[in-house]
Amino acid sequence: MNVPDPDTFNFSLDDDEDDWRQPAGAPVYDTPAAVLSTYWGYSSFRPLQRDIIDSILEGRDTIGLIPTGGGKSITFQVPAMMLPGVTIVITPLVSLMKDQVDRLRAADYPAACMHMGMTRSQNDYLTQRIAGGAVKLLYIAPERLLAESFVGAMRRWRISLFVVDEAHCISQWGYDFRPSYLKLGMLRETYPDVPILALTASATPEVVNDIADKLAMRAERRFAISFRRNNISFGVCHCTDSKAGELVRLLAATPGTTIIYVRSRRRTRELAAMLAAEGFSALPYHAGMEIRDKNANQKAWMSGKVRIIVATTAFGMGIDKADVRLVVHYDMPGTLEEYYQEAGRAGRDGLPARAVLLATPRDRSIFGRRLADAFPQKEFIARVYNEVCRFLDISMGEGYGRLFEFRVERMCTEYNLPPVRTMSALAILGRAGYMEYISEMATPTRIIFIMPRNKLYGLRISEAHDELLDYILRHYTGIFIDYVGIDDDRLCAALRITAEELYQMLLALQRMDVLRFIPRNRTPYISMLANRVEGNRLVIPRSVYEDRRLAMERRLKAMENFIFEDTTCRVRRMLAYFGETATENCGKCDVCAAGNLRSDSDLRDELTAMLTSAPDGKISFAELRRHFAEYLPQLVEIVRDMVDDGTAEVDGIWLKA
Ligand code: ADP
Ligand code: MG
Repeated sequence: MNVPDPDTFNFSLDDDEDDWRQPAGAPVYDTPAAVLSTYWGYSSFRPLQRDIIDSILEGRDTIGLIPTGGGKSITFQVPAMMLPGVTIVITPLVSLMKDQVDRLRAADYPAACMHMGMTRSQNDYLTQRIAGGAVKLLYIAPERLLAESFVGAMRRWRISLFVVDEAHCISQWGYDFRPSYLKLGMLRETYPDVPILALTASATPEVVNDIADKLAMRAERRFAISFRRNNISFGVCHCTDSKAGELVRLLAATPGTTIIYVRSRRRTRELAAMLAAEGFSALPYHAGMEIRDKNANQKAWMSGKVRIIVATTAFGMGIDKADVRLVVHYDMPGTLEEYYQEAGRAGRDGLPARAVLLATPRDRSIFGRRLADAFPQKEFIARVYNEVCRFLDISMGEGYGRLFEFRVERMCTEYNLPPVRTMSALAILGRAGYMEYISEMATPTRIIFIMPRNKLYGLRISEAHDELLDYILRHYTGIFIDYVGIDDDRLCAALRITAEELYQMLLALQRMDVLRFIPRNRTPYISMLANRVEGNRLVIPRSVYEDRRLAMERRLKAMENFIFEDTTCRVRRMLAYFGETATENCGKCDVCAAGNLRSDSDLRDELTAMLTSAPDGKISFAELRRHFAEYLPQLVEIVRDMVDDGTAEVDGIWLKA
């Protein structure tokens, strides 16, 4: 076996590389177009890409709203190559981060990422390279900014731009709030002169304002692409018999690549099996599957070998398959934001595609239940708090700062608590500052060698074991001195073994006294944020409970109306939700196609009649809003027309005949 000598040890960051091929004094590009053609070979920018890039190059804070697949990444990857220092991108998903970096580096673009799976020495090495100017683009997770060591390292860098990807995560009123994003408020404080670019695919006007506010943006420029997707026809199908029967009919009538979204892991399997039995080519996909199966199913679908993937919402993040002809929602989506993102995976190639949501009258009750599940009664929250403390044996007035291993399912069984609401109660207790439930604190496999290096040379176990030892020794330093965390995923990928095989091999090596190891672990924890108090003394602030509950209620209501109100063009309603009001009926959704719309002239007649019969011929806008709730976008235009042609006038809060 080939054991490298420590002195000549060529430390590398990941498996293949240390190869940025980016000499110090990198080429300087003076136009965005030059960067675009050099690294991507594209000849022109897509809508708004250039505007956003120019705004950044002028040093302005900028917000970009571009639908998924519209090309947000280019808007920072291009200027990063033109700015003098490093651009730091904050993004929530480590898996996507690695993918992006791999792809960029394959094109010789000097990008890197920092994530939890990296060892200390890997980190130090990367930090130096950044300080030396060899890295133009660095991806990090928001949690990084909580680490002292990272913030210290940043001080030695020349930072040109901060990019906040999936920026809607910073808004507590948004649909995908992540508390770690709030930490990004420190960017402006610490780096008052570095411009910030915030990017997202979907945000309501209220969330966009919140993004600007939370990031302390100054005179920011905002760019938004219309959310309209003309090639997709949206539809809600109110099923009279079973959804499954409707689904089969739909699939038979709509050829081509298909995604079916469901809300439970079990359903992915059941539906895929049902469809297979009906003669369709279909596979399941959900986050809890073995990585190997997950990848295999995804690949089979991506390559076109399999037509249909039945997936939970975990599927699709970062997936770029252009020829999806049909996206079906089999279960009720959570919010219009999620729905629109998922439905929008249809027809990326610009060719006609369909998005169909299957509903039954019974589905309507789901929205109320979801709200109750997410915000259980405060008495229940107090009970959960007490039970957790009892379960973990925490005495009154104690516990602050301690971390407890905690199996929530076990507690629920033991104390007969409903799991979903218990999880919600824990989330609320976390936000209120009492105890935080950390569902997966992933610790990598950690290894220490106990057999001296020289003895390792003589070892002959099997080729696979040799390869493993060789890999570990080549990639990790200090491993004879102390436990070192390894990047399990990378190692398994490089050696083409499964996590289970790795575990078995390490176990064998441990038995032979070659090494000791602590297996990779995903243990759930409770972290006590404060000493235990009496359950009935808990203080849960408005901002944590009532305000958030109201925001969720509004989002759920909008989703419910979208599905169950059948007299407004679906697209128009959705666009209004995202703040685009001056829009036309799409002419293609089920409502438009069925001719169920109340036309502009219907509405105008009704409004005129109301004005005529109103006392003083005046109606307040508040009342109009109530009366025409489902028709607001249309109504705005009608009022505008009436004002333009002099049949009505606006007087403060009144519309007058
Ligand atoms: P988003 O982050 O907005 O969802 P991405 O940045 O991942 O979208 O880009 C989606 C796809 O569009 C990528 O494959 C990207 O290479 C491609 N793309 C982006 N800009 C252009 C362009 N100007 N010309 C051609 N293709 C582009
Ligand atoms: Mg993106």
